[in-house]
Amino acid sequence: MPKGCFSMVLAQAIEDKIMPDFKPIKQPRVSEAVFDQLKEAILSNDFKAGDRLPSERELSEQFQVSRVAVREAIRALENSGFVAIRQGATGGAFVTDLTFEQLASACLDLYMARKISVHELHQVRILIEPEVARLATLNASPDMKDRLLRAYEAEHPPGASLDADIASGTKVHFVLAEMCGNRFFEAIINSVIKLNTMILEELKPHPPYSIHPPGFHLALVEAVLSGNPDAAADAMRNHARLFYENLMKLEREYRERVDMEKGPELRSPNQALGSNPVS
Ligand SMILES: [Zn+2]
Repeated sequence: MPKGCFSMVLAQAIEDKIMPDFKPIKQPRVSEAVFDQLKEAILSNDFKAGDRLPSERELSEQFQVSRVAVREAIRALENSGFVAIRQGATGGAFVTDLTFEQLASACLDLYMARKISVHELHQVRILIEPEVARLATLNASPDMKDRLLRAYEAEHPPGASLDADIASGTKVHFVLAEMCGNRFFEAIINSVIKLNTMILEELKPHPPYSIHPPGFHLALVEAVLSGNPDAAADAMRNHARLFYENLMKLEREYRERVDMEKGPELRSPNQALGSNPVS
């Protein structure tokens, strides 16, 4: 190989080696660029919760874009939960108070879209909730202990309806999640409990308290109130496991009931609650 030819090949090889794998440049849409700037202004507190964003006309003048692009950006902000649109003379796009509620709502949407199964939900719960109970015990103030005790006492006797039982039976979990002192844990647990609530509303246990009978939280509440974090974590783990077993039993009964109603030709033994497997 002539010398010049070799150095060309070498140069090409070096070039091939050092050229990173760049991606083609994608021009953002105008409305996306407006969205990004408005979102940044909200996150950096230039607009605070309750503030009204400038009007479409003002924003389109300032951004020097069409009002259509501004409208699209504001709609995207609304969909992401950053603003709420109010109609009328005093209406407009108002900055919302960002909360972890959006996480719960996103989890509910994922469940409805059949992208979270009950088993996956349980796996998360049994890992996180014992830790929440442990932290709650370590952080328990006299006031929070009092709230926990009142929540526990309100579980008795069982309510007259499923809604009443769910409301009283979940309160202990919400209080413990608040007590744990970690807002992210609290948000995850709130989402998990809300998802469980939705599932129970679908499965309709009878009598309502059969899946989560009164006294179910006794060992847990006693451990927290006596200041024993490890016992609280163990009690919560045990509680989550028993609840899941009851839920599975209920789900089997639900499946049998649905199959009976469908008739033999339409039965699908591996499916329940649509295509969202409950086991
Ligand atoms: Zn419970």
